[in-house]
Amino acid sequence: MATVSPEETVENDAMPKELAAESKLYIDVGIDSVPVVYRDEYNIHLLGMEKLHPFDACKWGNVVKHLKKKQLMKDMKLVSPNEATEADLRMVHSASYLRSLKWSINVAKITEVAPVALLPNIVLQKRVLKPFRYQTGGSVLAGKLAVERGWSINIGGGFHHCWGNKGGGFCAYADITLTVHFILNHYPHLERVMIIDLDAHQGNGHERDFMGRKDVYILDIYNKYIYPNDKYAKRAISRKVELFAYTEDEEYLERVSTHVEGAINEFSPHVVVYNAGTDIMEGDCLGLLSVSKQGIIERDEIVFQKVRQRNIPIVMLTSGGYQRATASVIADSIANLSKKSLIDVSSH
Ligand SMILES: [Zn+2]
Repeated sequence: MATVSPEETVENDAMPKELAAESKLYIDVGIDSVPVVYRDEYNIHLLGMEKLHPFDACKWGNVVKHLKKKQLMKDMKLVSPNEATEADLRMVHSASYLRSLKWSINVAKITEVAPVALLPNIVLQKRVLKPFRYQTGGSVLAGKLAVERGWSINIGGGFHHCWGNKGGGFCAYADITLTVHFILNHYPHLERVMIIDLDAHQGNGHERDFMGRKDVYILDIYNKYIYPNDKYAKRAISRKVELFAYTEDEEYLERVSTHVEGAINEFSPHVVVYNAGTDIMEGDCLGLLSVSKQGIIERDEIVFQKVRQRNIPIVMLTSGGYQRATASVIADSIANLSKKSLIDVSSH
């Protein structure tokens, strides 16, 4: 089982967070758009090489295709984010980490597709890292929209294995950390952020980035027997729920309900970042849990219901889960949130 050692979390030389004021990621969004963030540049087209990976590398576009097919969301006007720039990323990442991405071998390790190491870095920058930078920009912008509208969804992002000094597990940029920094810097009245991480894997990236912070509360519910088993990062989890492999709906949903409720009551967050990975779904060869499609829909409903009923802004990120069926489940879940009046997707 892969582990990550504490030495890899040494202080990084990231730039002051105040630079957020000069960023182009917080654009103004008209009220005629619904706070669902996406653009076609999210998707990865790697000369057919993406087929070597068990992932649906166009999952994000496929979610939108499914959404558009639904009568209710046919005419939904989505929000198009900007790409996170080097200056944006430096608010979280060390210069040496960003430099390391200029070597194809390092990008191959992060994406876990070995032949990627053979591609010229210029191809990887354009075909892999650029999509990730757009998704990172999307998460940050979704943070702003959540504060303005009460909720938002980035149809991408949720790279929870990446921290300031290191990437891994298909995560090259620490978009969750960056999203939280932007919120705390732009909205001084929002002092407490909660990360609810319900991807099947432990979210060791944001955990390492927020180690020791009193203003960030992390609830992490994950399969304890899979990657990354990062013992050092676990110290940063405020409420840790470790699941056995192949946990099914009833137990899973009971735990989600109990601990989301408990965490919110304990911390009274001003904003929630919800990392809604769908790799908890039965059949996922990485997540190794046994939650049904309906279980995922109910999980998202529980989280939105508990957070929204208290008028706490929530930003949802789609994170892990790349089986072919995943995109339709995410779309069905968003449709269910709308049906239950937990989100309003009608354009104004
Ligand atoms: Zn995952």
